[in-house]
Amino acid sequence: MVEGKKKVVIIGGGITGLTAAYYLQKEVREKSLPLEVTLIESTHRLGGKIQTLVKDGFVIEKGPDSFLARKQSASRFAKEVGMEDQLVNNTAGKSYVLVKERLHPMPGGSIMGIPTQIAPFISTGLFSTTGKLRAAADFVLPKSNPAEDQSLGEFFRRRLGDEVVENLIEPLLSGIYAGDIDQLSLMSTFPQFYQVEQKYRSLILGMKKATPAPKKSPNSTGKDKGIFLTFKKGLQSFVDEVERRLEPGSVIKGHRVERIRKTESGYELSINSGETMRADSIIAATPHHVTSAIFSQYDFFDVFERMPSTSVATVALSFPKEAIKKDIEGTGFVVSRNSDYTITACTWTHKKWPHSTPEGKVLLRCYVGRAGDEAVVELSDDEIVKIVLEDLNKTMNIEMDPELVVVTRWKDSMPQYTVGHKDRIAKVKEQVTKELPGVFLAGSSFEGLGLPDCIDQGEEAVKKVLDYISK
Ligand SMILES: Cc1cc2nc3c(=O)[nH]c(=O)nc-3n(C[C@H](O)[C@H](O)[C@H](O)COP(=O)(O)OP(=O)(O)OC[C@H]3O[C@@H](n4cnc5c(N)ncnc54)[C@H](O)[C@@H]3O)c2cc1C
Repeated sequence: MVEGKKKVVIIGGGITGLTAAYYLQKEVREKSLPLEVTLIESTHRLGGKIQTLVKDGFVIEKGPDSFLARKQSASRFAKEVGMEDQLVNNTAGKSYVLVKERLHPMPGGSIMGIPTQIAPFISTGLFSTTGKLRAAADFVLPKSNPAEDQSLGEFFRRRLGDEVVENLIEPLLSGIYAGDIDQLSLMSTFPQFYQVEQKYRSLILGMKKATPAPKKSPNSTGKDKGIFLTFKKGLQSFVDEVERRLEPGSVIKGHRVERIRKTESGYELSINSGETMRADSIIAATPHHVTSAIFSQYDFFDVFERMPSTSVATVALSFPKEAIKKDIEGTGFVVSRNSDYTITACTWTHKKWPHSTPEGKVLLRCYVGRAGDEAVVELSDDEIVKIVLEDLNKTMNIEMDPELVVVTRWKDSMPQYTVGHKDRIAKVKEQVTKELPGVFLAGSSFEGLGLPDCIDQGEEAVKKVLDYISK
């Protein structure tokens, strides 16, 4: 350490840790702060769950494939590192829900499954007449009692009935968290729905009022831009660019932090290489179970041991165009739990992200694994691919073997924000402030797992470190 400088260590080189490292070093540079920033990552690469394979003209995302454009921290970060011109929107297209062997187009005007237009909702084959009438009860039902958290399932079942939940809302919402909506917390996942209910009472009317009509630009071609963004050369290209801009020598890869001990003057980190490292302040941007293991002598982290994470796998398959006998217009489908399928979703990536696929080819990306249905992730690649192809053939008639297959397992990778999550995290953070001053927790286990949410948390951690150091 350079004499007189305080030392900040960021643990974990996923998007959260990278964001924190980048913005903290920027502050240090611009304000000539006496701070030394080190990012330590256990694997030999940065990006964590972001991993892109660029092969034979394909851009294949093994983990996340994009982020929500309306959450602006990610595009702001892209601009910050000079990659704004690399951003691409998805092609907006028809998407479907697979219910009991049939693909149903998503009813027009539904927002996360909540109907905001009456006609498409009445005409959809997704629900029975009884299911539709039950959903209409939303117009008259009272709002929830403001107070306690509740599960997404409880909230939506009460407002719209089981059928709308199981055939539309569940496959859409649980897909984002690979979770069980009857366990997931409303307040930690989609608090906006609760706020709409509190303000307008009816969710259907409230969503209609709260959602601005889509703007068409005067020279619109009629084709709407999608709501997601990614990078032309893959999300990994963004990680690489951020890494390139970090201070030389400030990133240590292939070193795992095993334990952290509080000392009289700060903290001592034990690394798996046997070395130790000193720090005045720490940002732990690791998954919650890692954070609790690093700080195992503090029992207030025990709650993280009980916080579940689900395992999923992504399966990317490419074919020549002519292999698909039944070409369906659209960009993909999600699968309801009451269907006899193992895949939980399939993106027709060549249509949703045309830049990802060379001419004349088809790229499909499927998901397997979700809360309560994770055993499939343990199977061999061949077994997983066989199951995925059998599922796909029920709707798409694929007549050839795939030319390229990429199976990526993500064990215990999707943190589950179950009912009460927000309060539990707030309590842990309170204890951390009290007993481990200068230590800050950030990342997908805490306040949102989308990439922009992780970026927000990385930026927030930077503010907290600067505030702490300046005291
Ligand atoms: C299959 C899949 C698809 C997804 N799709 C999307 C999507 O399309 N859009 C979206 O917005 N989000 C998506 N997500 C969520 C998003 O990718 C993650 O929430 C986000 O990338 C997590 O970033 P992070 O930095 O918090 O954690 P991570 O990426 O998990 O990074 C943590 C880092 O810490 C390192 N580490 C662990 N232990 C130690 C240790 N002891 N010492 C040092 N380093 C350590 C790890 O190696 C890792 O690099 C998806 C997630 C998955 C798994």
